[in-house]
Amino acid sequence: MHLQIPADVATVIKRLREKDHEAFVVGGCVRDAIRGVDPADWDVATDADPSEIQSVFKRSLYTNRFGTVVVRQGDHEIEVTTYRVEAEYSDHRRPDAVAFTESLQADLSRRDFTMNAMAWSPEDGGHLVDPFHGRADLDARIVRAVGDPDERFREDALRMLRAVRFGAVLGFTIEPATATAIERNAHLASTLSGERIQQELLRIIRGPVPSVGFRMLSNLGILAVIAPELERCRETPQEKVAAVDVFEHSLATLDAAAAEMPPGTPSEDDLILRLAALFHDIGKPDTHDDGHFHQHEFVGEAIARRILRRWKLDKATVEQVAHLVRNHMFWYQPDWTSSAVRRFIRKVGLESIPVLFALRKADNIGSGARAPRMFALDELWLRVQGEIHRANTFSKRDLKVDGNDVMAALGLRPGPEVGRILEALFERVLDEPELNEPATLIALAREVHSRPPG
Ligand code: ATP
Ligand code: MG
Repeated sequence: MHLQIPADVATVIKRLREKDHEAFVVGGCVRDAIRGVDPADWDVATDADPSEIQSVFKRSLYTNRFGTVVVRQGDHEIEVTTYRVEAEYSDHRRPDAVAFTESLQADLSRRDFTMNAMAWSPEDGGHLVDPFHGRADLDARIVRAVGDPDERFREDALRMLRAVRFGAVLGFTIEPATATAIERNAHLASTLSGERIQQELLRIIRGPVPSVGFRMLSNLGILAVIAPELERCRETPQEKVAAVDVFEHSLATLDAAAAEMPPGTPSEDDLILRLAALFHDIGKPDTHDDGHFHQHEFVGEAIARRILRRWKLDKATVEQVAHLVRNHMFWYQPDWTSSAVRRFIRKVGLESIPVLFALRKADNIGSGARAPRMFALDELWLRVQGEIHRANTFSKRDLKVDGNDVMAALGLRPGPEVGRILEALFERVLDEPELNEPATLIALAREVHSRPPG
C-alpha cells in the first residue's frame, strides 16, 4: 500500500530518520489518507523526545506538556509528538499526566479506535503499522475500540461521543461489544466538560445527515445524560395523533435544514439554522396539553439557551438560536397590510429573515404531510422582499434624522424625551415609509414633543 503524503510531511519524517529516530504519520491522517480523503492536519509520532525534536528543527515551537512540538516545514505546520502513554485517569476525562515511551506499539494502543491507531512511514518504500487491524475495520466501516472497550471509556468518557461522531459522520457502524460498553458507561458522560461535548456534538450537527448521530446518542443512553431535555421529546407526541414524537420531528427538521441550506451560506448561519432546527420544539414536552403546546416557543427559547450555555457556545450563537426558536411560530394571512408585513420584519429583525424562513421551510418538510403547513410562506417571502426594497426602514438607524437633528431643531438637551420622540417617529415611518424625509420628520417631531406622554 502506498499513501500520498505532502512533501513537507515526508521531509519532516526524513530528517528525523537521518538522526536515527523513528518517525511515522499517525492517527486520523492515516485513516483519512487510506480513505482517499484529504486530512485536516498531519500528525507525526516519533521516539525522539521534545528536546531532540527541537534540535532537529530550528523553526519549531514546543507548546504543551503533552510532548507535542509544532514544526513549520514549507507551508505546513506539522505536529510532531513523542510516543506517549497516558499515565493515570482518575476522573474519566483527562489523563493526569503523560509518560513518554520508546514504543510505537504502546503509543498506538492508547488511541481510541482501531481505524485511528495506525501508523505509516514513507521510508523503505512505505509501510503500514496496524497492530489492531484498523485497516480491516475501516474497509468494513466499523468503529471498534482499541483494547477493552469498558476500560477505554472509563479512562476517557469523550471516546463514547467520538465513537458516535465517527459512526454518524462517516456512516460507520459501532461494533457490538464497543456499543454495549458505551451503554454501560454512558452515565460517565456527565463528567465531561461542556467544551469537549460541544466539540464532538457540533461535528455531528454539521454532518450530512445529523439525525443519525442523535438517534445513536439516544439509543446508547448518552443523550439522556448530556441533553435530557431532548431525550424527553421521545415521549411527547408531535400532534394529537401519537404517530410521531417530538424527537423524531426535531431530527427530521434538522436533516431538512442540513439538506436545504443553499451552498455558499456562511458556516455560522448554517450552524445557527441547524441548532434552531434541533431545538425549535424543545418546549413541547413542558407545554403538552391535549395535542396543543401553548407558548412552547417561549418555553423552548429558555431551554435552548440553557442547553447551549451548558455546551459553552458563544453568546452570539446562543442569542441567535434563542431568537429563532422564539419566533418560529409566525403565521401569515394574505390580508396582512403592508405595515403588518413591515412590523413582522421589524420584530424578527432584517438579518434574521433568511434563516427564519429557512427554519420554517425545514419545519414544514420535517412535518411531512401531517401537520398543517404554512402554505403561504412563499407569498410572505415575496412580500417581505418587496417591503425591504421599498421601505428600507426597519430600525431606528434607518430614520433620516437622528437624535442630534431632533435636539438641534427643537432646542432640546440630551435625555429621555429625545428617545421618546425618535421612537414615535419610527413607529410612524413603519406605517408610512413616505414620511421618512428630514423635513417631514422634524415637523412630526415638533408635533410629538408638543403632546407629552400620558
Ligand atoms: P479529525 O481530526 O478528523 O476529527 P482525528 O481522529 O484526527 O479526527 P483528533 O482529535 O485530531 O481526531 O485526534 C488525532 C488522533 O489522536 C486520533 O486519530 C486518535 O488516534 C487520537 N485521539 C484523539 N482523541 C483521543 C481520545 N480521546 N482518546 C484516545 N485517542 C484519541
Ligand atoms: Mg485530526
